[in-house]
Amino acid sequence: MKTETPMIRQYREIKEHNQDKILLFRVGDFYELFFDDAKIGARELEITLTARDKDVPLAGFPYHALNTYLSRLIERGYKVAICEQVEDPKQAKGIVKREIVQVITPGTVTETSLLDEKSNNYLVSVYVGRGGFGLAAVDVSTGQFVMSQERGSQAARFLADELCRLNPAEIIVNEGAKDNQVLTEAMARLGTQVAINPCRDKNYALKQAQETLLSQFAVQNLDSLGCADLFFAVSAAGAALAYLHDNRQGNLSHLQQPEVYNAEGYMVLDAATRRNLELTRTIREERKYGSLLWVLDKTRSALGGRLLKRWLEQPLLDKAAICERLDAVEELAGDFLMLDELSELLDEVYDLERLLSKVHYESANARDLVALRSTLAVLPAVREKLLSGGERMQTLARHLPVLEDLSLYLTEALCDDPPLSVRDGGLVRDRFHPDVDKLRHACRHGRDYILSMEQRERERTGIKSLKVGYNKVFGYYIEITRANAHLTPDDYIRKQTLANAERYITPELKEYEATVLGAEEKICALEYELFQEVRRKVGANTMEIQEAAAALAQLDVFQSLARVARDYRYVRPQVDDGDVVDIREGRHPVVERVMQDSMFVPNDTRLDRDNQRLLMITGPNMAGKSTYMRQTALIVLLAQVGSFVPAASANIGLVDRIFTRIGAADDLVGGQSTFMVEMSEVANILSRATDKSLVLLDEVGRGTSTFDGISIARAVVEHLYGKVGARTLFATHYHELTDLASDLPAVQNMATAVKEKGEDIVFLHKVIAGSVDHSYGIQVARLAGLPQRVISRSREILNSLESPTQAVRETAAASEAEQMRLFMPDPELTGLMDEVQEADLMTTTPLEAMQMLYKLQQAL
Ligand code: ADP
Repeated sequence: MKTETPMIRQYREIKEHNQDKILLFRVGDFYELFFDDAKIGARELEITLTARDKDVPLAGFPYHALNTYLSRLIERGYKVAICEQVEDPKQAKGIVKREIVQVITPGTVTETSLLDEKSNNYLVSVYVGRGGFGLAAVDVSTGQFVMSQERGSQAARFLADELCRLNPAEIIVNEGAKDNQVLTEAMARLGTQVAINPCRDKNYALKQAQETLLSQFAVQNLDSLGCADLFFAVSAAGAALAYLHDNRQGNLSHLQQPEVYNAEGYMVLDAATRRNLELTRTIREERKYGSLLWVLDKTRSALGGRLLKRWLEQPLLDKAAICERLDAVEELAGDFLMLDELSELLDEVYDLERLLSKVHYESANARDLVALRSTLAVLPAVREKLLSGGERMQTLARHLPVLEDLSLYLTEALCDDPPLSVRDGGLVRDRFHPDVDKLRHACRHGRDYILSMEQRERERTGIKSLKVGYNKVFGYYIEITRANAHLTPDDYIRKQTLANAERYITPELKEYEATVLGAEEKICALEYELFQEVRRKVGANTMEIQEAAAALAQLDVFQSLARVARDYRYVRPQVDDGDVVDIREGRHPVVERVMQDSMFVPNDTRLDRDNQRLLMITGPNMAGKSTYMRQTALIVLLAQVGSFVPAASANIGLVDRIFTRIGAADDLVGGQSTFMVEMSEVANILSRATDKSLVLLDEVGRGTSTFDGISIARAVVEHLYGKVGARTLFATHYHELTDLASDLPAVQNMATAVKEKGEDIVFLHKVIAGSVDHSYGIQVARLAGLPQRVISRSREILNSLESPTQAVRETAAASEAEQMRLFMPDPELTGLMDEVQEADLMTTTPLEAMQMLYKLQQAL
């Protein structure tokens, strides 16, 4: 084997401990990737693959392009280790020392350019144990930290729901959980974007996890964190911290104390329901435009944007907490002037949470601190405004620290427009530090002196075009054009020859240069030191800054909700613990916004226990059934988020869970038929819904034959109605089901009204009591543009079916019977099959075997 260069040997040693990561190896001004990493890099980053020392595959990019390439690798789910030169190559003896300074994984990104500013970026650690699971979600870019656990038969479902809600960038699980079925299913739902890493079981060991948590949050016992008995959650949280410590050298002191929550403490929304209701993105295009969040998000800051998203994904169950939010929205929605003034102030608010995490990772530069400073600068005005408002605004004001000292300190310390680099000076304001002032003075004096030399030398030599200039390589020089070269004095020392000029130096010039450059170097070093101190001081105010961030985020969300309420005519819902949902003139918040010219037709919804527990909705396609159902769910959900709602009035008896089974969902959990998916979603609903839940079912049973479909749909209705008692909206094409209204007292038939106009129909989009016994399928098909010939032929067929001859009726009945037969084993056949199965073939005579076969043949 060919002997390796020392650098490649060094590379191998470092790579050896980082097999699972792409290693970006700093060589001078480049990051280089070697061997297999080079091949991955070439493929994923579209950079050229070459070779070093002939046979070592190599790919690389310039150091200043790090963020661009890093983000591509992270987006594709790779872990990346950044290996820097940690000593000055000029001072190095032998090969320059290199170390990994940071490991970045999708769930541990802090660089804001790699993050979506209005979404949290979670690393989720899952511990699957016996009979339950624990979960911890950490967003290192904001310091948010939550933990939870569930036990019992529903635990797996909750885990899946929570993973879908949190939409993690990265998941780590204990090794033992790798093959857990629930986890596999939840992952399948999340799609391929998420990186999943099994982690050493050791990190999840309870004892170690407990110690990690105690030391991270500097507490005596876990009681003070509220998680002493939550062993699974503690395991998960401990492992998350261990993973972060393993990956980073930076400190984690900006992590907030974990918020321990219980998934059942919020409205339960399963993955299918979140998707169907399009809370934060649309089903088809997976984007925000067209989602509920898109309508509601009028936040002015990233802080508010993220909080609004979290609130929307976790509606509340507690009446008092909901009312507090509603009060706040009402106070602002009722005072336009205050609303506008606060919005303007919020425009000045930068992302305090992410700035703070950069401070802790020592990656914040002076511009970041200036952004932080200008945010702090508006705090007193915000507070004053809030104090002049209603009760909730005043409470918010009391939770908003104004951080006057820090604000003043930052104003004195940093100049107004500092450069990006923190190593090249120009950060610190004059009069902040006497040594900086002194050095700056010396520097300025030296520069002035050098400039004055230009005038003096012009006079001495008589060369008018003589110039004093500066460049990085040669420092200060005197330039004389070729034409005047003969006038150059003897004491000039030639340094460089250009096309039509010569450059010189003099001992005097060099002397002043030394003062200037020496001072500049000292200034840069001193300013960098001072800057670090300023940054540390900011870090020391972490708690207050986080408190301010939390208050501003809430204010921004209230501001956003108030603005939506005002602009789109929403009303305050009345919430209570009763069973009645009574919405007058409700509207679909998103559909009404995307409808441009035409007007949205409002509809009432009333659900209660005794008369209208289940609404059976019939009507042709496109008449507005699913819009109506979704709007009901969205209005309930908005109310429990604490938002006003699109309606003339709304009374909401609190709902503990919303379930939906709407439309033909695509095959989410790979390899299952649409019907299977539909049935497993229905099964999920039947097992989890309670009498406090709201259930929306759209065309359940459609994926199979008519008889099967009707039977299943009817049985589902009976179960929901009788056993579960959930308030339910049930849309169906099976007119047969409308008979249920006469059998079950609290089933109410509703229909979407249409008007017939000759051969056409007009959708009125009005939901009225009663049922339609006509599907208008052909009219809808006509509207959709099916060719006239096909339409006419459909009418012919329909007519013959609606007045069937004896023959047609018999064929129809026979084919249904045939279909049923396929699924129902013949009793005679079953008996024979048992006989064959039980026969002992070793003792059976050939004749007996023949007889058995004969009987079987007859039966088939
Ligand atoms: P269905 O579920 O009955 O097939 P949809 O609810 O999908 O019908 O509605 C079809 C279309 O009709 C919607 O995309 C929307 O444009 C329009 N629509 C539905 N409800 C209303 C309404 N209340 N007012 C105005 N237009 C509506």
